[in-house]
Amino acid sequence: MLRIQQLKLSPDHSQEELVGAIRKSLRLAQNQPFSYEIIRRSIDARKRPEIFYVYTVDVDCRGEKTEKQLLKRAGNKNVSLIQPAKYRFPASGTEPLSLPPVIVGTGPAGLFCGLMLARAGYRPILLERGQSVPKRQKSVEQFWKTGKLNPDSNVQFGEGGAGTFSDGKLNTLVKDPEGRIRFVLQNFVQAGADAEILFSNKPHIGTDVLAGVVQNLRNEILSLGGQVFFHTRLDDFCALGNGIYRLSLQDTACDDPKDGFGDCSAWFLNTSVLVLAIGHSARDTFRMLADHQFDLRAKSFAVGVRVEHPQQLINDSQYGENCPYELEAAPYKVTHKLADGRGVYSFCMCPGGYVVNASSEPGMLAVNGMSYHDRAGENANSAIVVTVSPEDFGGCGPLDGLEFQRKLERNAYEAGQGRIPVQRFADFQANLPTREFGKVTPRMKGCFSPANVRQIFPERIGSAIEEGITAFERQIKGFSDPDTLISGVESRTSSPVRISRDAGYESSYPGIYPCGEGAGYAGGITSAAMDGIRVAEAIASKFSIDFLEK
Ligand SMILES: Cc1cc2nc3c(=O)[nH]c(=O)nc-3n(C[C@H](O)[C@H](O)[C@H](O)COP(=O)(O)OP(=O)(O)OC[C@H]3O[C@@H](n4cnc5c(N)ncnc54)[C@H](O)[C@@H]3O)c2cc1C
Repeated sequence: MLRIQQLKLSPDHSQEELVGAIRKSLRLAQNQPFSYEIIRRSIDARKRPEIFYVYTVDVDCRGEKTEKQLLKRAGNKNVSLIQPAKYRFPASGTEPLSLPPVIVGTGPAGLFCGLMLARAGYRPILLERGQSVPKRQKSVEQFWKTGKLNPDSNVQFGEGGAGTFSDGKLNTLVKDPEGRIRFVLQNFVQAGADAEILFSNKPHIGTDVLAGVVQNLRNEILSLGGQVFFHTRLDDFCALGNGIYRLSLQDTACDDPKDGFGDCSAWFLNTSVLVLAIGHSARDTFRMLADHQFDLRAKSFAVGVRVEHPQQLINDSQYGENCPYELEAAPYKVTHKLADGRGVYSFCMCPGGYVVNASSEPGMLAVNGMSYHDRAGENANSAIVVTVSPEDFGGCGPLDGLEFQRKLERNAYEAGQGRIPVQRFADFQANLPTREFGKVTPRMKGCFSPANVRQIFPERIGSAIEEGITAFERQIKGFSDPDTLISGVESRTSSPVRISRDAGYESSYPGIYPCGEGAGYAGGITSAAMDGIRVAEAIASKFSIDFLEK
């Protein structure tokens, strides 16, 4: 396969122009047939208003000349011969496995682990404390409207995991010689995502599409003999011997007219293979694991605020004012180094999106961001965060970071009196509560109120955020405008805990596999899905399917 990189065309180019550019790069005769696949498309606006789409394409030429000869004749440094990595799942191992593997969590890690094991014939059982997508959407909409939180089914918990109510950004920086990233994206496309995610350099699905994609992946697992139990929470387990574990499961869906939510009945399930794909917000489950002396380690993470600007301000900054092209809502990435060496940076930027109330514990408030596939919202938002470490937590116990998150979220809940606290940047600088908003209007999912967000944080973090936002004015004009909106607290940027695992992906308990973001081995949808695949590979290459009870 011949790969052409750095193929530049204006954003309003036609397909014929792309074909022409390929033919010219390879110096192919007009009648030389070829097929091509777009591998990457990015926007180059560095010399705005001159803006280009920059393509990487793979070309398959049929004809008498070999690719080596075509490569030589092209004499173009942007053309190379490549062998695309094709992802392969390992063959099954030989160790007998009588009971189906159990996977806790249906976020990207749990879902892809389940999907791979189901395709390989292991008939996995997936447990999810939250509701299936349709019911979960109702619970979340009700929470955003009334503030009534379902602690087991919300923006963090439920089918599809934390990422279901998100922008569904899929880029990851994880190294990937095996080709798992493209495999994950191809599976998202098969399950209904737009094929553009296969070549966009900033692929995103959008929460409106992601909801369907997650259900299609779940239905494939069911069609292959897997089982999925929603509103089922793993509360505890015990070892029965011979490698068998007995899981204590709690049904979390019980329509109690008094409060509508509550625990119902408990039941038990035995297995010898347990995957913990529990996500970064399963605080009760982390405590249960700590009680069982799992080897847990505190892990650094970042906390901060979410900022909102008019999307047009960002477009003008990134593409130039009066940009003549119809381009997608512009993203940005900004970073700044503080005097004490710590970094302040933007995280999970949502073009044309909404700030969401992403809380999962009563009396606590955390925010995050989401957008729909069209990213047509009026505002751009992103988290502006600072890395925190045991010095900030005030202790280096494995769960101290988690308790620090909870402390900030309690402060945020109080600052907004149960609503999302929102402040103008000018008031953040003055450490004064905002009375009324200026030219930027909050675009939020969840009730919000003007407040003093700065008081949520220890001053060391408050001043770091202020210094960062002020510094970003140099990168994006208007970033530190007095009316820029600040909301908080952004505390769930990644897991505050790592569950140790060995080279076989097993924890200190044989047969129990920590997996995904919650276990501290991923950050984001795609890398969590990749970790789910890795754990499935480890289980499959060890165990045979031949002994599975019918
Ligand atoms: C609002 C929001 C927006 C985001 N936007 C993006 C984005 O655009 N791009 C991106 O890459 N990442 C984004 N993220 C982060 C991304 O969602 C996570 O990195 C990813 O979902 C981690 O996947 P996971 O499978 O490891 O865990 P999770 O997705 O957190 O899934 C864990 C699942 O386990 C379940 N669970 C936990 N404990 C138990 C138990 N005891 N019993 C049964 N079930 C249990 C939970 O209910 C949950 O469904 C966003 C997160 C949020 C909250």
